[in-house]
Amino acid sequence: MTTTHSTSPSATATELDGKTALVTGSTSGIGLGIAEALARMGCSVILNGFGEPDTARAQVQRAAAGRCRVAYHGADLGKPSEIEALMRFAELEFGGIDILVNNAGIQHVASVEEFPVDKWDAILSINLSAAFHTTRLAIPHMRASNWGRIINVASVHGLVASTHKAAYVAAKHGLIGLTKVTALETARTGITCNALCPGWVETPLVQRQVEARATRDGLGTDDARSALVSEKQPSGDFVSTDQLAQVAVFLCSSAADQVRGASWNVDGGWTAQ
Ligand code: NAD
Repeated sequence: MTTTHSTSPSATATELDGKTALVTGSTSGIGLGIAEALARMGCSVILNGFGEPDTARAQVQRAAAGRCRVAYHGADLGKPSEIEALMRFAELEFGGIDILVNNAGIQHVASVEEFPVDKWDAILSINLSAAFHTTRLAIPHMRASNWGRIINVASVHGLVASTHKAAYVAAKHGLIGLTKVTALETARTGITCNALCPGWVETPLVQRQVEARATRDGLGTDDARSALVSEKQPSGDFVSTDQLAQVAVFLCSSAADQVRGASWNVDGGWTAQ
């Protein structure tokens, strides 16, 4: 379930050099982009998620360029006992987590009255409760070193709603609530907690919604993609994973020491409407 790879240190230092980051759900999409960006800044990275960990690990190791360690733990974040195992692994292998990026998330689309109960439970546990568990277990090490960064990948759906996404919208609104409470409880320390609120980002999670839209409206993939994005996002363009990753890097920097409890939208104007 777990593997680690040691790499040799390099002479180039950044202010994040030597920090350890856990990015949940980093085998694809936004999490993988953030993991790469943090590795490029000199952070050792613990990857997590399903799918193809070897491909993700190779990509992040390339970004690390021999400066830091890249490890993987396959905890299912829907299971608190596996989250505890992941956090024990981080403690034993790295001495604890300095940067926690709660990113793992799933989606299911259905009206409230038809929403499958098991999907509701899964979305609430992976998109919301998992962040509570990682946060409660990460904070003691951060308090001991009086430095930490917690970034919760929420969504515009933590700020506004769309139809057919009851569980997702409820979980993301909850995640923003958790972000604010964590920020207040750590306000007198060197730990900050903030949320990122992306609009449409073209990742596997959204690809499935593009395909559903194409089937529903009898559109080609390109037309379905363009219909999906322009309906909500005034810019008409997807947000890129790299753009989000750069905001995450900024939130980890000392320039963001006083950014606390923010819900930072990166949404092509979605929530300005
Ligand atoms: P993605 O499907 O590409 O990645 C999701 C990641 O979570 C994968 O690594 C997957 O393996 C992992 N994951 C899923 N269930 C898990 C579980 N039980 N345990 C551990 N890992 C699990 O999706 P993405 O678009 O990159 O989404 C990442 C985050 O960004 C999610 O929280 C999502 O809600 C949020 N987000 C995405 C968009 C978008 O447009 N793509 C917009 C706003 C917010």
